[in-house]
Amino acid sequence: MSTECCFSLLIKPASADCNLRCDYCFYSSRSQLYPETTTHRMPDEVLTRMIASYMATDQPQYVFGWQGGEPTLMGVVFFRRVTELQQKYGRPGAVVANGLQTNATLITDELASHLAEYHFLVGVSLDGPAELHDRFRKAKGGGGSHEMVLQGIEWLRRHQVDFNVLILVNSANVHHGRENLSVSL
Ligand code: SF4
Repeated sequence: MSTECCFSLLIKPASADCNLRCDYCFYSSRSQLYPETTTHRMPDEVLTRMIASYMATDQPQYVFGWQGGEPTLMGVVFFRRVTELQQKYGRPGAVVANGLQTNATLITDELASHLAEYHFLVGVSLDGPAELHDRFRKAKGGGGSHEMVLQGIEWLRRHQVDFNVLILVNSANVHHGRENLSVSL
């Protein structure tokens, strides 16, 4: 009987860095753990070693969860490199799954196209319609981020990327029923 355990990876390639400033964010202050630099990005050497060593293990499925902070700060070039390395180090027939949790505000035409091509499952953080979402989910300047999120979702839809919505239940939306939280996408 095999003693090898199955496991997946949860990766934060931009550490706690984020382009938004949500009022309830518990995570952005974590970047202070690395005061030597204000910008945190996973180097290619680390990415390569991580993917190569994981793909060398024996798994029924190789599951990568990309989270943040905001992982799309890495840009489309990074995610192209991810899938290139997964193909390079994967054995023939290896099954690879990629999940991406994002605020969606940095999703571009190019990035959505790549996510679609490699069947990423995307989770979009959205707290309801603008009047509820924008209460806490703020851009750097203090304005709401709802419109930016909908633009990102539009790119996902155009490229038919599989995505779901993650709502953080908070004091602004907790008393609203499903009908009031719905957004026309
Ligand atoms: S999008 Fe997420 S990581 Fe960024 S500020 Fe909001 S809660 Fe924090």
